[in-house]
Amino acid sequence: MKFNNTDFDTYFKNYPNSDGFYGKYGGSYLPEELQAAMEEITSAYKTICKSRKFIAELRRIRQEFQGRPTPISHLQRLSDIAGNGVQLYVKREDLNHTGAHKLNHCMGEVLLAQYMGKKKVIGETGAGQHGVALATAAAYFGLECDIYMGAVDIKKQAPNVARMKILGARVIEVTQGLATLKEAVDAAFEAYAKEYKDAIYCIGSVMGPHPFPMMVRDFQAVVGVEAREQYLNMTGELPDVVVACIGGGSNSIGIFSGFLNDPVKLIGVEPLGRGPALGDHAASLTYGEEGIMHGFNSIMLKDANGEPAPVYSVASGLDYPSSGPEHAFLMDLGRVKYDVIGDEETIDAFFTLSRMEGIIPALESAHAVAYAMKLAKEMGKGSILINLSGRGDKDMDYVIEHYGIR
Ligand SMILES: *Cc1c(COP(=O)(O)O)cnc(C)c1O
Repeated sequence: MKFNNTDFDTYFKNYPNSDGFYGKYGGSYLPEELQAAMEEITSAYKTICKSRKFIAELRRIRQEFQGRPTPISHLQRLSDIAGNGVQLYVKREDLNHTGAHKLNHCMGEVLLAQYMGKKKVIGETGAGQHGVALATAAAYFGLECDIYMGAVDIKKQAPNVARMKILGARVIEVTQGLATLKEAVDAAFEAYAKEYKDAIYCIGSVMGPHPFPMMVRDFQAVVGVEAREQYLNMTGELPDVVVACIGGGSNSIGIFSGFLNDPVKLIGVEPLGRGPALGDHAASLTYGEEGIMHGFNSIMLKDANGEPAPVYSVASGLDYPSSGPEHAFLMDLGRVKYDVIGDEETIDAFFTLSRMEGIIPALESAHAVAYAMKLAKEMGKGSILINLSGRGDKDMDYVIEHYGIR
């Protein structure tokens, strides 16, 4: 199957190119001293990712420490009520150690840091999930860990802050601007510029300057590889549609990468929040325009001055004003469709999945569930595989406080 003359057989060989571009998106736009640091990471990664020892070590860690492969579950009861004949399945990244897909790239990134002889890892976090995953990986490998986090998110995600501290990380509060993920990224970059000789920056998604979008995709590809094989074994065929939520875009690129060359429809779901007015959502691919921020070119939401716009989503892991460059590229190619779902339907899906299937999803993942339930009604037959990127324990107090029990 071909899409706009791009043959997905050779897609991973061609994208990104050696400068980190996916078409016009991606690249590395940084001050000179950080540019050198990125080149050091790129060249170390290019060598190490082909090393048999590195690959074997990562495979062992995934199995023995993370609990991979994570299963696929058929949502029998939810399909019966919501499916209109369509069968719904979830890839259970909520069962990955620490409760989300993010540990997949953190274990890879910190293993790389160890190979490079670094003493410290630096990261930023929104929902706290990347911070917890990075702190977990740092503890596993015995490296220091500094996590930058917006003051607003620190309040909203108290259990994850406690987790990071228990795991031995330093949590550094960021109070500038809206004090959420965007400001945390700025602060973490600033710290890294001072410490890059001894430290490595570990980005929490398929964004930032090259090589991070490529590296994080490669580490998340395990989700797609497992899911394709498991789904085939389970049903004898491929799903008609694969759905995943989009923040920076790592869990989605992970599962999509397994199906790019198949006749499977891929849909990325962005958070519409309270509605389509600027400031009320974080649907950057749907409503944004091309621009450079945080060291990479992609599609982003801009304010009147062309700066990254304020964004909002009920899921703090999705409230970022841009998405990874590869998503911008896949959108232009027409290979992946991007659509939106709002807070209200997300909260409904959060409760419905919990009640019908005994799975409490992360609010981020509940966006994908809500979208799949809506799509199932329109489709009438077929199957949808949802990437359940994480579990909802971290969101329970927030949901009950703001929405009550439904
Ligand atoms: C961080 C997070 C996301 C969003 O990040 P992506 O890079 O888009 O995957 C989604 N789900 C969960 C559970 C998260 O923690």
